Amino acid sequence: MTSPSRREFVVHREPINRHGRIIVVSGPSGVGKGTVIRRVLEQVPDLALSVSATTRPMREGDIAGTSYHFLSQQEFEVGIQDGIFYEWARYKNNYYGTLKRTVAERTATGKDIILEIDIQGARQVKSLAPNAVLIYIQPPNFETLEKRLRGRATETERAIRERLAAAIDEQNSVEADYAGHYVITNDNLDACTNLLITIISAERHRMIRPEPEN
Ligand code: 5GP
Repeated sequence: MTSPSRREFVVHREPINRHGRIIVVSGPSGVGKGTVIRRVLEQVPDLALSVSATTRPMREGDIAGTSYHFLSQQEFEVGIQDGIFYEWARYKNNYYGTLKRTVAERTATGKDIILEIDIQGARQVKSLAPNAVLIYIQPPNFETLEKRLRGRATETERAIRERLAAAIDEQNSVEADYAGHYVITNDNLDACTNLLITIISAERHRMIRPEPEN
């Protein structure tokens, strides 16, 4: 037997250098996912946030083109027909959707991209991109979620009740939707932020399966 040689030993290029992952972050309204994501973006290099399109009215603090691309219902429906959306969903009588262009740009810019979208969108991405990483942020308990929602002075009682009912439905589908993916609890902002950063760091080392072109 010839002796093993150094030439036969393949050191693999770490997947960390191959950017362009889709990271989908979902969770009930009021769980604090926006704050967690903002902190993660400040700390993790080569990571961008997808700007979705929506037909919901602008809220105080929203910036057109940064928070969302704000479209009329008609513009959105034409967009659906023209196939401009990677995924889209109706959420409380408004349309929300991720633009195909935005997802395509992730490879051009070489950055991983976070999609902060609802669970209906997460399901679509899971079937479109088998390597997408799904992360669900849950509150530590119902009372905390209710308190956080009530703390937002902008919501009407009816809106709060609707959001809580939606959160219960979502919470009950997590086991089925997130098998093989991640669920984290936002009990403490720093801990939750660090956990999300840890998941993204670990995912950057995971060898991916070849994906069909979208
Ligand atoms: P908000 O109106 O509070 O900004 O968002 C309402 C919900 O819509 C949130 O759960 C948010 O994650 C979700 N959402 C935002 N953009 C998209 C999108 O592009 N696609 C889908 N499916 N959901 C979205």
